[in-house]
Amino acid sequence: MHDRTMIRVPDLDDFSGSAEENINAGQIDIEKQHLYMEQIRDRNDMYFAEKNRKRTYEVRNFGCQMNEHDAEKLRGMLHEMGYVPNQDEVPDLIVFNTCCVRENAEEKVYGHIGALKSLKRDKEDMIIAVCGCMTEQEHVVQEIRKKYENVDLVFGTHNLHRFPELLHKCIFTNTRVFEISNTDGEVVEGVPVLRDSDFKAWVTIMYGCNNFCSYCIVPYVRGRERSRAVCDILAEVVELDKAGIKEITLLGQNVNSYGHDRRDGVDFATLLKLICDSTSIPRIRFMTSHPKDLSDELIEVMANNERICRHLHLPVQSGSTRILEKMNRKYTKEKYLELVKKVKERIPGIALSTDIIVGFPGETEEDFNETLSVVEEVRFDSAFTFIYSKRTGTPAARFEDQIPEEVAKERFNRLLELQNSISREINESYVGRNVEVLVEGLSRTNDKKYTGRTEGNKVVNFDRMDENIDLSGRIVTVRIDSAQTWSLNGTLVNSKN
Ligand code: SF4
Repeated sequence: MHDRTMIRVPDLDDFSGSAEENINAGQIDIEKQHLYMEQIRDRNDMYFAEKNRKRTYEVRNFGCQMNEHDAEKLRGMLHEMGYVPNQDEVPDLIVFNTCCVRENAEEKVYGHIGALKSLKRDKEDMIIAVCGCMTEQEHVVQEIRKKYENVDLVFGTHNLHRFPELLHKCIFTNTRVFEISNTDGEVVEGVPVLRDSDFKAWVTIMYGCNNFCSYCIVPYVRGRERSRAVCDILAEVVELDKAGIKEITLLGQNVNSYGHDRRDGVDFATLLKLICDSTSIPRIRFMTSHPKDLSDELIEVMANNERICRHLHLPVQSGSTRILEKMNRKYTKEKYLELVKKVKERIPGIALSTDIIVGFPGETEEDFNETLSVVEEVRFDSAFTFIYSKRTGTPAARFEDQIPEEVAKERFNRLLELQNSISREINESYVGRNVEVLVEGLSRTNDKKYTGRTEGNKVVNFDRMDENIDLSGRIVTVRIDSAQTWSLNGTLVNSKN
């Protein structure tokens, strides 16, 4: 029998006072934002009365899940302000929610903004706003100020909730507005959210990161760790449960350090347990987990709660302890492998995914072979593999032993080949098995097929039997008939859930 670590689960009443304690300057600010939203809405209503046309918007999002959820907040605020999603004309307002973890993500954004220059000449009153991680870097703000005069509004990650106020200033003073705050934003509750899905939801549980991995720009642009109050998270998930949401994903740059900055003693394992106990949401996921902070308690909570998906995204980044040290990851290859062993033993059948950087400064062929050996030993279900991208302002950008591009590319291809063959073998082991699939909708490439995901996050496609029944948002049983590297194909067995 396994030794079960005891977890003290606080009573929900323990948190009843914390919302009030959590009222801070940001909270007072949000009240103000509602007034700005009302004023912009009045202006947009007047426009509609005059032109019989609503003002339209488009949010172009780049980057991670955190940004996807921020984009839902931007859309939520835009709706409150009376804007509607753009259909097929030139929108009145475009917001770029940017990412800066890799150079090509930044280049894409510049390309998009540049391409709008002529459009803006034809439609002068169009507003272009840029926000997100890119704009938290001074050199980016300067570049936009000088070279992209078509951009009207620039704001950062810490003042996203002040979007209505900044937009108001931009509209009513007819000036370009740049407002970047480099102090850590407070945790602000009550920002309107327009969710992309009726059955899946992101729930941010913390903001920022304290880890300063030597290649990563995130701690510089998202600030230090700030955890949301337990009562606020629970209130949100209970609402989502009532609304019939089937899957939530708890988000944070490192969810495993949730609560370290708060005094109520609730860590991530306890939070997860509380969420399981206070909702009946069938699928609960989380990301991302830093291996150095993955606790035994968390493994126990996962093992003991079937509604927590049997999937763990555990970025290894490199298999070489020497490189891990240079990356400031604070674990060794051996520690990582020990952790994986523990997780697999305690949660049999768990699907593991990871992130790997190839060509980190100083990476030798020997170091790279260590990465390959970890991939072979762990047998990840999937891996997000990246060639190291130099980010100005991070320690690794100053390392002298940068790896030539062609060497990094050649290693990247070898890694991909190995991982793809493992993913395919694992997927083939599903053939003949029945799996539960949360149906996400019709396949984008074939409207005769549905697409969905297993709790291990595998994509499953299966035939649409009855055109009169929409299975989107249901958890159904599918028998797997064949497997590919990135997806499984099957036949619907049962759609009762
Ligand atoms: S844990 Fe490391 S890689 Fe992840 S966001 Fe923080 S600094 Fe970046």
